[in-house]
Parts: sequence; C-alpha cells; structure tokens
Amino acid sequence: MNDRIDSTAHYRALDAAHHLHPFSDMAELNRAGSRVIVKAEGVHLWDSEGACIIDGMAGLWCVNLGYGRRELADAAHAQMQALAYYNTFFRTTHPPVIELSELLAQLTPQTFNRFLYCNSGSEANDTALRAVHRYWALQGKPDKRYVIARSNAYHGSTIAGATLGGMSDMHEQMPSKMEHVVHIDQPYWFGEGGEMDVEAFGLARARQLEARIIELGAENVAAFIGEPFQGAGGVIFPPSSYWPEIQRICREHDVLLIADEVIGGFGRTGEWFAHRHFGFEPDVITMAKGLTSGYVPMGAVGLSDRIADAIVNGGEFNHGFTYSGHPVAAAVAVANLKLLRDEGIVARVKEDTGPYFQMRLRDALSGHPIVGEIQGVGLVAGIQLAENPVTRKRFVNGDDVGTMCRNLCFNNNLVMRASGDRMLLSPPLVVTHEEIDEMIAKAKAAIDATASALGLA
Ligand SMILES: *Cc1c(COP(=O)(O)O)cnc(C)c1O
Repeated sequence: MNDRIDSTAHYRALDAAHHLHPFSDMAELNRAGSRVIVKAEGVHLWDSEGACIIDGMAGLWCVNLGYGRRELADAAHAQMQALAYYNTFFRTTHPPVIELSELLAQLTPQTFNRFLYCNSGSEANDTALRAVHRYWALQGKPDKRYVIARSNAYHGSTIAGATLGGMSDMHEQMPSKMEHVVHIDQPYWFGEGGEMDVEAFGLARARQLEARIIELGAENVAAFIGEPFQGAGGVIFPPSSYWPEIQRICREHDVLLIADEVIGGFGRTGEWFAHRHFGFEPDVITMAKGLTSGYVPMGAVGLSDRIADAIVNGGEFNHGFTYSGHPVAAAVAVANLKLLRDEGIVARVKEDTGPYFQMRLRDALSGHPIVGEIQGVGLVAGIQLAENPVTRKRFVNGDDVGTMCRNLCFNNNLVMRASGDRMLLSPPLVVTHEEIDEMIAKAKAAIDATASALGLA
C-alpha cells in the first residue's frame, strides 16, 4: 500500500489538514505538498512514489548507525517484552540503564562517571543547567548563575534551549526568555573575520568570553556552553586557537565548560566526542541524537566527577522526567553504541571514510566559482557559498541561494541541508566510498546548477 502511486496525494492531503511540522511555513508547505518517506535502509530513504533518496544528513544528524539495523529493533522488542517501562525515581533501577551508564563511563573521558537521562537534546541542555545551578548552590556560591552562550548557536527548542541558542529567528518569537543567559559572538571567520588572520580572530572571539565574565563578575558566572563545532548554524569550525583559549578562560575564572555534543558525539568527527578533536576538556557533556542513532528518542548529560560528587553528596536533586533512563531507549542505546564500537565504525570514520569524504569534497569543490570555503572533519562538512570566494563576498540573498541549492539536491534525490548560505553534509557513519562518491557528485551537480542559475558558472 505504501508504495502505491495514488496514495501520495491522500497522505499529503491528510498531512496538510492535521499535521503541523517543526520549523516550517505551513501554508507554503501545504501548497507544495510534503514528500512522504516510507522506508529506509543503510544510507537510503524511499518515498511514497518509490523514489530512492541518498541521505546526506543522517536524518537530522542522528542516524549514525544507518537505517534498518535489525539488532536495534531486536533490542527494543526484547526489552519491551521483558520490561517495557519502569521509573527510576523511587529507589528502583533496571538493567538497561545500568548497562548504558557503565558504557558511557567507558566511552567518555575518564573524569566522567555519572550520567543523567532525558528524552532529547533540548532536555539535555535544560538538565545541564539544572545540574550546574545545583552544583554552585552546593558550593555556597548561588550567585554564580549567569550562563554565557554564543550567537548562531543551536541548543534546542525548549525555552531554555532556545534562549541558550543564538538564533535570532527563534528569539524573535519568544516574548519571554530564560533569565541570566547572555551571548558573545560566534567564531565564524569566513563571515565575520574581516581582514584578521584566522587564528588571531579565533583568539579575539574567545577573549570576548573573558571580557564578558569580567563585566558580569566571575562570582556571578556559572558556565559557558558551546557546540564544539556549530551544527545547525552551518557546520562552522572555529579556528584552532579558539577552544584552548576558551578552556583557559573558564579555568582561570572558575566557570564551568559545557560541551553540547548532541551532534558531535558518537563518532561524527571520527572521535567518540568532538571536544577531543578540538583538544579541550569540558566539565559537562550533553548528548542525544547519535546516542540511539535516532531509533528511539533519548538524551543524556555527563557530569565530571567534581560536579557529580557534589550532587551525589548534596542531598536530593529535585529534577527528573517520567521517562528518564527509559528502559527501551536505554536498551537501544546500548545496542547502538556497541555496534558503533565493535564493528569499528567510529574508528573507520577517523581512519578511512572520514578522510576519504573530506578529500573527495575538496577535490570536487575547491576553486568552484561559488564555493568560498569547505570546513569539516570526519563525516561532517559545511560548504560556504559565496558570490566571490576570493574576497569572501557573500550573496545579499544568501538564504535564497542556499534554499535553491538545497531544493536542487532534493529534486535530484540527495538530502543536503542549507543553513543560510552554507550547505551541510553529515551522512550516516556507515556510508561507503561508493556512496560518498554518489553524494558528492550530486552535491556538486546542485552547486553547479545553482551557479548557472545565478549566471556565475
Ligand atoms: C539537535 C540539537 C539540539 C536539540 O536536540 P533535540 O533532540 O531536537 O531537542 C541541541 N543541541 C544541538 C547541538 C543540536 O544539534
């Protein structure tokens, strides 16, 4: 039934009538009609018309293991039959959450041994703030309540997540935000570096953090939060000077460093966590997406021993969700992480598929008339479109140019996302060389067509 041609119109009509999509202009979408995705396998999706689409975004940065893995379905099935649900509030626990916690302690840096659970990346960031505030209160420093974040960051869409994020389109639709959150500028050299040297720019942007801490008073600042590389903001990789300086500043002023690893975690950069690629050591790690490869929702927060010890010894921490550590989600997470580890998938991203992907992308697009820079490592990349790549002159209608390019990809059965004038790729970590070649050929065709449409080919 799903692949009957005549079912598409029916699905679209019902979707338009009853379903509100995230981050979508619904009137416009309903006029165009949604594409109905009915099945997936490996790195490929199929729509209700029978078209096969190659997924260059791993769903929404989450399907690290690829689609259709029987082991995860089996883990969920077995767990649902054994214990579909039980809470962990009132002196109870269960095997999947115990096993997951031990596994996360092995995969995260040595100083991380305790984990809190939730259902999404947004909730993970909310939870991180709850834990950070609790920690400072227990230290007798309740005034340390400011959290510093960055412009064009993405930390989710709850009130706290969206306040922490630096997306002005989201802030505009929020009449009230969380208190005690302030932003500094993002480390985006191509767009904002002007004539500065890249590394000097990285240092200057990091030092905005120090200036803001001093302005607020270090005794009032709880934490700094950042994605190791900005994901939704455009796969923006900071200059290599940036993170070591951020870490120095946080240490010197006793400000906790929260790494939002919701995208970067679980192999995306070829490391288990992206902060390792950038060479810094966070105090708190937030996770979701690749934790379960998106098969079921789950988020987690890792607390370094300094924070976890204080919370453990500090009496009751009044926080949790009905589904904290959900047994089915935890069982799927365990199966997922074991496959990523035991099949050598993360190691392969570092040694083989990641370098191959980055090399092919640069071979195909360096020097292209509308490509200003290509950033990325492992299996994640941002491709900056620009009117003049040499002078870094950006398109005045960059959002439209990005959208045009994205639509050309989608019509040619490649999912590549646009963030303003940057094109993003983040395929499942199981992608093969042949599939990488196919993705990059399709991406290049779309960028060529975009250049032609603009008269810049
Ligand atoms: C997706 C994302 C979030 C939010 O996760 P949800 O599961 O959508 O709530 C938070 N931080 C980063 C870096 C993300 O990419």
